[in-house]
Amino acid sequence: MRIVLLWFALARLHAQINIGIDSHIDTMQRVLIDRTDITQRSPVGHVDIPRMREGGVNAPFFALWVPTYYKGAEAIRRTLDLRDAAQRLFDTHPEQIALALNAADVERIARSRRIAAILTIEGGHQIDDDLGVLRMYYRLGIRSMTLTHFRHHNWADSSTDEPMHNGLTEFGKEVVREMNRLGMIVDISHVSDKTFYDVLSVTAKPVIASHSSCRELSDVPRNMTDDMIRALAKNGGVIGINFGEGFLNPKDAETLKANIAKIAEEPALTGKALDQYSEQQHRDEQMSKPATYATVDDAAAHVDHAVKIAGIDHVGIGSDFDGISAPPKGLEDISKMTALAAALRKKGYSDPDIRKIFGGNTLRVLREVTGK
Ligand SMILES: [Zn+2]
Repeated sequence: MRIVLLWFALARLHAQINIGIDSHIDTMQRVLIDRTDITQRSPVGHVDIPRMREGGVNAPFFALWVPTYYKGAEAIRRTLDLRDAAQRLFDTHPEQIALALNAADVERIARSRRIAAILTIEGGHQIDDDLGVLRMYYRLGIRSMTLTHFRHHNWADSSTDEPMHNGLTEFGKEVVREMNRLGMIVDISHVSDKTFYDVLSVTAKPVIASHSSCRELSDVPRNMTDDMIRALAKNGGVIGINFGEGFLNPKDAETLKANIAKIAEEPALTGKALDQYSEQQHRDEQMSKPATYATVDDAAAHVDHAVKIAGIDHVGIGSDFDGISAPPKGLEDISKMTALAAALRKKGYSDPDIRKIFGGNTLRVLREVTGK
């Protein structure tokens, strides 16, 4: 009898585990540069473990983002530094956070009440045109790659740069096929529209837009058109709505466009001098607190629009927290995810729908791509 009761208790616990995914968080920059201990609640930044728990996010995609002014081997070195910073976090606090390599890992780690960290890289320049480097990233536990950042590189065009290749080159197509074969999620946030359609013509697996919103509501090139959102849904993929002010509210979009234009500067530095330059940029961005218009209701409107275009199974959340300067009012940090859920409930979304948007859909893609 006692065993039966125990079995029921375990089955209930199993059923109750909610997976909360945010498919794009930039917090590893703070862990590497500021030596932030994210197991402690912090008054700065948007993300730490106590605030993730409050907001119901237990499976963050941490981007190991390297600015595009890191060229060639420098970009690989910086990626490894970020990977090392993540490892130090896992090794110091195994009782709170662990690396997840697939959807089954996410569920197992979440069931033990820990944070399941999925590692991604943000920018194809980080592989230095070398599939061997891509494979080594996979072996280091990295399970997704955003194909470009703000600038085009040798094999793919970016949405915020002059087109150079008319989308994806032949080598770029090889990269997508190799990611499919390895079990790494192809992330099409940041790529040009043509690159996006080229990816869809090549990929055999669902892809994600880890942190993009709807161009119909805020006309910036980083957002997706309705046609792209429809095509993404047909591919089985997911769009993770970005909370950046310019992504959400057209009144903030002009500032975003101006900021994109500014990123042209590329220092002729290497090694520690380059790191110091990059770290100063990071600190300057943290200091800037622009006045903005975006609110939690804007975020809910983008989720709702994407659901209307793509259907309930193809929309997720990719906040870009710790990578955006001014989060929306009412959605100031990751603990406030509950406010977005409440705004969606007000629009008539049911709890099962909300669970799909806040994790279920992206977990499904992770399972399909990694195979478990
Ligand atoms: Zn980004």
